[in-house]
Amino acid sequence: MFGSLGGPRLLLRRLREVMAEPVSPQARLDKIVVHIAANMVAEVCSVYVLRADGRLELYATEGLNREAVHLTTLRTGEGLVGLIAETAEPLALADAQLHPSFMYRPETGEEIYSSFLGVPILRGGNTLGVLVVQNKARRTYPEEEIEALQTTAMLLAEMIASGDLQSLAPPGRDIALRRPLALKGTPIADGVGLGHVVLHEPRIVIKQIVAEDIKREMERLDTAIGAMRQSLDLLIESGNMGPGEHRDVLETFRLFAHDRGWLRRLREAVATGLTAEAAVERVQNDTRAKLQRQTEPYIRERLHDLDDLANRLLHQLTGQDFVGAHEVLPYNSVIVARSMGPAALLEYDRAKIRGLVLEESGALSHVAIVARALGIAAVGDVANIVDLVEPGDALIVDGLSGDIHLRPSPDVENSYAEKARLRARKQAQYHKLRDVPAVTKDGVAIDLHMNAGMVVDLQHVAETGAVSVGLFRTEIQFMLASRLPKMSEQEALYRTVLDSVDGKSITFRTLDIGSDKVLPYMTKVEEENPALGWRAIRIGLDRPGLLRSQLRALLRAGSGREMRIMFPMIATLEEFETAKSFVENELAHLRLHGRAPPSGLKLGIMVEVPSMLWQLDEACKRVDFLSVGSNDLFQYVYAVDRDNKRVATRFDPLSAPVLHVLKLIADKARASTMPLTLCGEMGGKPLEAMVLLALGYRGLSMSAAAIGPVKSMVLATNLSEAEAFVAALMEETRGGQSLRDKLRKFAKAQSIPV
Ligand code: PEP
Ligand code: MG
Repeated sequence: MFGSLGGPRLLLRRLREVMAEPVSPQARLDKIVVHIAANMVAEVCSVYVLRADGRLELYATEGLNREAVHLTTLRTGEGLVGLIAETAEPLALADAQLHPSFMYRPETGEEIYSSFLGVPILRGGNTLGVLVVQNKARRTYPEEEIEALQTTAMLLAEMIASGDLQSLAPPGRDIALRRPLALKGTPIADGVGLGHVVLHEPRIVIKQIVAEDIKREMERLDTAIGAMRQSLDLLIESGNMGPGEHRDVLETFRLFAHDRGWLRRLREAVATGLTAEAAVERVQNDTRAKLQRQTEPYIRERLHDLDDLANRLLHQLTGQDFVGAHEVLPYNSVIVARSMGPAALLEYDRAKIRGLVLEESGALSHVAIVARALGIAAVGDVANIVDLVEPGDALIVDGLSGDIHLRPSPDVENSYAEKARLRARKQAQYHKLRDVPAVTKDGVAIDLHMNAGMVVDLQHVAETGAVSVGLFRTEIQFMLASRLPKMSEQEALYRTVLDSVDGKSITFRTLDIGSDKVLPYMTKVEEENPALGWRAIRIGLDRPGLLRSQLRALLRAGSGREMRIMFPMIATLEEFETAKSFVENELAHLRLHGRAPPSGLKLGIMVEVPSMLWQLDEACKRVDFLSVGSNDLFQYVYAVDRDNKRVATRFDPLSAPVLHVLKLIADKARASTMPLTLCGEMGGKPLEAMVLLALGYRGLSMSAAAIGPVKSMVLATNLSEAEAFVAALMEETRGGQSLRDKLRKFAKAQSIPV
């Protein structure tokens, strides 16, 4: 055995020479196993490559029967080799045959070997194969040898990833690196996108794996670690952190940056002959492989922190930068990212993007709002996607079901192309409905409004035939900006919005921030329960400067025309009165400066806090209109955090308790002829919308894409029958169970498309 570290270094140098030789991939692999065996004084060295069908195939061997190459295969989890592939951890055994997973393959002739050392061949934390050495004599493999074999495996990983071995795989026995993968995430934005992977943060390309001079690499590593620590310390001390770099995250970073175990492993990897950057990648590969197999969210979070740290180190070492790589975005791009801010998505050329896949963000994230507005098919919460893709891979995004198909087979691709065609046909049908009034079969007219938040949304008003913009989320301008938008900028946006909808009305909602809607440039207030915390109108009333300047911008933009302003999260009528007094002050200010006020000003409130349910009679005397925020209302009625995946789908809005609440609001509004709409997500789902009509709602505001499907539902519904059915169902239901199935059956029986 090599006692010193000269062994692995020498081996790496040899292997690098072999890699450069102009021979066939098989000949190269055959040479590699000979070198490894010789260097490690082992009788056997074998390489198993993971195939797309999940089997590990013997690709090369020194010491075992050569005839077994490309014949012997093992399932993942089968035998010692399969176990290593499954756990992604090295396995060193003095007496392999005693191990419960040991499995003997007669064609290999391995029965005469006692000791076994195998390591996974990893890339991005994913197993690509297994590298094994075996000895006849019983022996214990020391830590340095395990380490050295792992380093060697890294070279093999590069060889596999480069596609070098693909030519050895007969059709139907593709190696796993290129295997098709079907994954599932959370649907974020409807649509089907077919295209090729572009990584939002391109991977750092490590050009040199094998070190020329170990001492120099150690120094480079130390210098980079020192520089990284210093920059983290500086960031923390300055208190001047960019978006997303909150103090606790940075503190965690600092802990890792001083973590002895992590630093020791980096140094050990360099000692085996790797360059500093290859060492960072190797250690991160092992860490990923281990942590990815954990299901605890906390541990996965740690992995992300470590990933970030490793990336920072790689940047230090290579001088390569994250940004700028998407300047030459190819056509048919599917952007893949761990997470992304809304502004970053807007920086891409929309015309070239077919889809968006995110590892972390869910349906309610801000980037999701932007993806929907831009009409980009998008799926979030796709575990591990960044590590699974290679730039340029074919990728299909199904934004309706949340399905992702990576490197799809021709069958899947064809069926999706068909799906995309069908969708286009349906879209064309909806388009034809644009000018058809939304009237039920029994002659009841329904107003379908559109939700918006950006100027890009507004083109859809004309395209969909929406009656008006029933909810304009003004916070989106604030969320996308890198600093607080000036009053003049707010006014300019509102004016553009009013100008671009052909005289249709717009209901502007004042700033609804707080809870999940954080502004990157505002100090984040730490709260135990942000959804019940300082948000929306509460911030507006406590920081009147912000609300006042927004109102001034709105009233100026609306000068001489109709203007509708709505306040979010009103819990008491006194809050509305105070907000209204702000409006009156601003109107006075406007007159003082000789400007015309809006010609017709309507002030309304969102009904989304349950306390409003018992103030509705009075509210109907004081406000000009009501709009139900069913997203928040639902979360407060059932006490379920709408952003918490564990509970968000635990209860169904289509259940008697919620329907009774919604009916109460509709009844009160009708009794006082108070204009009422509903602008939460419910209104945009045909089945839910059908129920809302039955409860008495005559105005629904929804995303642009929902208008066609909801209008089709309206046209096919006999409202009096739906009313009778829903009333009877509510009457007979005692508990809080979902009524969805019964409602769906009714719709089906009535041929209502939902
Ligand atoms: C709601 O709560 O239903 C709503 C429309 O507002 P948001 O989703 O912006 O909170
Ligand atoms: Mg709300």
